Amino acid sequence: MMIESSAAATRLLIRKARFAGKSVGCVPTMGALHPGHASLIGRARESCDFVVTTIFVNPTQFGPNEDFTRYPRTLEQDLEICRKSGADLVFTPEVREMYQPDAQTIVRVTQLSSVLEGAHRPGHFDGVSTVVAKLFLITEPDLAFFGQKDYQQQLIIRRMVSDLNLPVEIVTCPIVRESDGLAMSSRNRYLSAEERTAAAALSAALKLAERLAAETHSSPGEIEDQMAAFLQSTDRIELQYAVVVDTDTLEKLNHRPPTGVALVAARVGTTRLIDNTLLRFASEEFH
Ligand code: AMP
Repeated sequence: MMIESSAAATRLLIRKARFAGKSVGCVPTMGALHPGHASLIGRARESCDFVVTTIFVNPTQFGPNEDFTRYPRTLEQDLEICRKSGADLVFTPEVREMYQPDAQTIVRVTQLSSVLEGAHRPGHFDGVSTVVAKLFLITEPDLAFFGQKDYQQQLIIRRMVSDLNLPVEIVTCPIVRESDGLAMSSRNRYLSAEERTAAAALSAALKLAERLAAETHSSPGEIEDQMAAFLQSTDRIELQYAVVVDTDTLEKLNHRPPTGVALVAARVGTTRLIDNTLLRFASEEFH
């Protein structure tokens, strides 16, 4: 496995693979890798001839009061996971390699970036879409792999790729979970033992939503209320949002369509966690 911190050298290595007739898959990450990331790299390995994983803690997607400086950096373990998962190349640039101090250009996906996570983390998705656009321009992948864990993020990346005519196919991979349902996240390591136990309530709330959608006539609004009530009754959980929205637009649902997505965000202690699940609503005739 090759490891590169230079954008120019990375581009060259990937072009060489491409000239040799290989298809290229890219898995962008911020490191602190866990089995969720490994599943993305594994999926890329199955679908592409040449797999590049990027590891970059992107400063522009962190707010001023967020955890950029204390975000876990575990490069040696990360490289081991990349190796075991089948990456051919890891691109791990310094901040100065990705951003010139006088940079003026941002990529903004206007509407999708303004709601939910975007409303709670102003500027976050501008940082994400800008860095992912730059990573795509450096790595020039045929396919790029993202987790459903960050549901809004993968929608935004899909929109960006379509709006900018980027020749990349976005593949969204399933959420990898701990045995109690907690979605794996690099931020889970911030949780104390008590918080870790409480954090399982997020996925439990989503399970409740799945059940209400599939087995009752509950409206999207009623499901939101039930999720919120459940989370608000759990110690150590400070709910930020619990919504049931359109899978593509993230807009409110005012009837029971065939499908939707339930998304939750909460603080557990000082750690902010997000999770989501796709919902299938039972048809009226079914009951
Ligand atoms: P991050 O390092 O947090 O920026 O995540 C890098 C990629 O891994 C993103 O596409 C995430 O959605 C994805 N990812 C993070 N956690 C999980 C998980 N538990 N299951 C599947 N994919 C994940």
